[in-house]
Amino acid sequence: MEAELLDGAAVARAIRGEVARDVAELVKQTGKVPRLAAVLVGDDPASQVYVRNKVAACLEAGMRSEEVRLPAATPQDRVLARVRQLNEDADIDGILVQLPLPRAIDRAAVILALDPAKDVDGLHPLNAGRLLMKLDAPVPCTPAGIVDLLERCRLPIAGQHAVIVGRSDIVGRPLSILMMQRDATVTVCHSKTRDLPSVTRQADILIAAIGRPAFLGRDHIRPGATVIDVGVNRVDDAAAVAAIFGSDSPRVRQVRERGYTLVGDVHPVEAAARAAHLTPVPGGIGPLTIACLLRNTLRAARLRRRLVAQ
Ligand code: NAP
Repeated sequence: MEAELLDGAAVARAIRGEVARDVAELVKQTGKVPRLAAVLVGDDPASQVYVRNKVAACLEAGMRSEEVRLPAATPQDRVLARVRQLNEDADIDGILVQLPLPRAIDRAAVILALDPAKDVDGLHPLNAGRLLMKLDAPVPCTPAGIVDLLERCRLPIAGQHAVIVGRSDIVGRPLSILMMQRDATVTVCHSKTRDLPSVTRQADILIAAIGRPAFLGRDHIRPGATVIDVGVNRVDDAAAVAAIFGSDSPRVRQVRERGYTLVGDVHPVEAAARAAHLTPVPGGIGPLTIACLLRNTLRAARLRRRLVAQ
């Protein structure tokens, strides 16, 4: 039996619809349209696409949004100054800084410079700490989307063994907290984990956030597991893509025509033959991340207008 594909795009559409409805209500009450600033430093092509999609999704949900583009060589002081300017701008409700930043820029300094009230990615230490303490906080968008997907697909979390591969501050680490808060038994793996397959094979829910195409395969997956593939990797080698999907796959044609195809961290063919539920790449977690960003922007706008208690 092939795994059932979990339709992240459909769940994301539902969340976006809820956000659009609530935005319309907020505008009716306050006359103010929520507004997001998306800061993009440098010209990484994938980041440009992400920011463009986020800005378009804001507009579609009835919010205003703008891209703040800075050249790759912008000195750190200038980036920090721009972030502080956005903090001070009373018309801006949410700020996101697209990651990764160029190497010369200290990511922690940029995150610390954000006004926590406008931090729609939930990365500021104050927000990360509030999440840890189970206080109301903007939940980082990708982990929030994963939990939403599991819950809306009625897949149980409580009592399940969730194994998360990857411990980044935007995915693995906050996700481990959310899953623990929902009574999963959580194991977090990383590059120093010994005998990874023996650990991941214990997972009822296996979540991959690594950044290596098709890295987790048949040996890593317990038959019947739910597999959540967060990875988004551009693969431009047609032979490598043929080795993963098969030489007659439309993905091989896509590489020849577009120059690349997107591959998750999980081997899609081997996982489909082994898991009970699987998120596709693309169309799985990516759209949920954007939907949760819209929800966090609406949340920030409401809090700034004091429409809900903190
Ligand atoms: P990251 O910050 O680079 O972290 C990668 C994590 O994977 C690290 O914890 C690293 O371990 C671990 N890792 C690396 N090699 C490993 C190995 N051989 N065995 C076990 N663990 C290993 O990555 P990220 O920002 O979390 O992103 C991960 C992936 O998710 C990327 O493909 C990214 O594009 C994608 N992503 C997608 C979305 C979405 O919306 N769909 C959102 C965010 C990220 P160490 O800590 O030991 O180095």
